[in-house]
Amino acid sequence: MAKSSVRIPPGLLGELSQENNKWFEFYEKHPNAPKTKSYRKKVRYFLEYKGHNQKPFYSFGEAEVNNFLDMLKSAGYNRGIDTFISAISKCAKILREEYSDIFPPSFLSSISKSRKNEASESSGEVLTLRQISLIKKYTLEQGDLYEKYIFENLFRRGVQLESLKVVEKIDFDEDVDFIYKANQYFKKLTSHLTEQGEYAKTTYLNSDHFKKSHQAYFFPCPFCQGRIENIAENWILVRIEFDDEYRLVHAACKDNLK
Ligand SMILES: [Zn+2]
Repeated sequence: MAKSSVRIPPGLLGELSQENNKWFEFYEKHPNAPKTKSYRKKVRYFLEYKGHNQKPFYSFGEAEVNNFLDMLKSAGYNRGIDTFISAISKCAKILREEYSDIFPPSFLSSISKSRKNEASESSGEVLTLRQISLIKKYTLEQGDLYEKYIFENLFRRGVQLESLKVVEKIDFDEDVDFIYKANQYFKKLTSHLTEQGEYAKTTYLNSDHFKKSHQAYFFPCPFCQGRIENIAENWILVRIEFDDEYRLVHAACKDNLK
């Protein structure tokens, strides 16, 4: 699979100044720095952003943070901005503690206020059957491996977007940013549905659409505790001798009926 590390339009990033590079390397090697490469890379993007890549890091404040976050939003990060904020916030804490003579206590200390609190965002709706089947077809026929994986997990398994990368190990690049991948995928799906006349809103689809659709189209099975999609081959009508009624039962679990 091709490397796919461009997450921010490349024209927006520039060289780090020598001094900022030194700070970044210090942070990266620090024992308290996050182990995940993609997480540390978020701090690097923040430093490389052309709006301020030549300014000394210790002089960064609210303006630098806000400009950077605005740029992320216009680059397609509808969600995932909070992980940038926590990455930058952890880095700032390390530098404040280790180099208190250079990084004042106020250095990026209020950055958490910029959080959007994405977890509480619930703007999606249950997708219609027509939308679901267009999305399935599109993903199977035109989607890349990542998109199929995202669809499979969000819709079929009801996994949260945030936990995608830790779900299982597949042959993906170590530092794939699934939130970014998913946002790109949602954008594509939004234009596909719009072109097909099946979506009329101006906002993009988001993971909440998939979460709510999973809950709506997958029924719980009382025998195996799984959530099973509501397609005919998964369910059968069964009546057992002491019951007067036929019941809809998960086909794979029918032998467990007593
Ligand atoms: Zn079952």
